Amino acid sequence: MAEPGRRGGKEDSAARAEALYADAFVWDAHAGFESWPTTDLRNLAIWKDAGVDFLSVNVGYDVQRWTDTVRVLAAFRRWFEASEDFVLAGSVSDVRAARSAGRMAVAFDLEGMNALDGDLDLLHLVHALGVRQILFAYNRNNLAGGGCHDEDAGLTDFGRAAVHEMNDLGILVDCSHCGYRTTMDAMELSCAPVIFSHSNPRALRDHERNIRDEQATACAATGGVIGVNGIGLFLGEDDIRTEALADHVEYLLDLVGPDHVGIGLDYFFEAEVDASFQDALAGNEDYWPREQYPGRAIRCAAPSQLGELTALLLARGRSEAEVRAVLGGNFLRVAGEVWG
Ligand SMILES: [Zn+2]
Repeated sequence: MAEPGRRGGKEDSAARAEALYADAFVWDAHAGFESWPTTDLRNLAIWKDAGVDFLSVNVGYDVQRWTDTVRVLAAFRRWFEASEDFVLAGSVSDVRAARSAGRMAVAFDLEGMNALDGDLDLLHLVHALGVRQILFAYNRNNLAGGGCHDEDAGLTDFGRAAVHEMNDLGILVDCSHCGYRTTMDAMELSCAPVIFSHSNPRALRDHERNIRDEQATACAATGGVIGVNGIGLFLGEDDIRTEALADHVEYLLDLVGPDHVGIGLDYFFEAEVDASFQDALAGNEDYWPREQYPGRAIRCAAPSQLGELTALLLARGRSEAEVRAVLGGNFLRVAGEVWG
């Protein structure tokens, strides 16, 4: 045992990482579970117990019907109204107030604009109901733009109109899951910072869900943030080690600088892996082409690894300021600019 005053460097650095993680604002820009009115939101304790202060929770994606999203919004809103530990936030001041009160804040996101059913009035409605982040197309092309596993289509007229409305309303324009041209169109068109809520650099792992360097640099040029995704298939060969997460974070830090990198783990509950999502994945090759998703099981790095990620980034020589920015400072800044 080391005596006081003679503590080893390792203990010092572990204590420093722990203190930093406890004090830092932790923002996870996307949860990957499939949402249904029956989804057990008590599972959000996985994030809260891991020290996450804010989580973006999807209320629908293109594979579901838009009416499913309405039901999910109704059920989730009711659940949050009754919750003591979790709060549905509409602004960054709500998010900060939640943290001060020891609660975890959540806002909703949509993965694909099928949920809008071609009607921009629904954009206003979902905003009023708590949606603060929307991407255009989930893997496949749709009414708004191109998906990453489909022909490389640009934004449609509807998609372009949606960008303007999202800028006006204060909804984060998200390019994860979208095709290359759609992402570049959106970043050129948007007046506000654009994010990739949960996308990894393709330079480290050549998967269609990951993004090219020029997409990342264009995102940074809008003032936006790229959230590193924890899914093993997007980090490497089904690699969910914290080292792999740190590698992707560091690649982006070197490419776009410390103000434009964040976390969007995409974590889902374990029970979900064996159930509905895996069935959907196996039975729907249009959305998940077999050559891109060769295995049936998908694993994801857990929120509980974020403390270890903090220690690893510090050990690799990243500054405390950089690590705080990655853990949540950057997404907090962008949300403050966009949500109003
Ligand atoms: Zn996703």
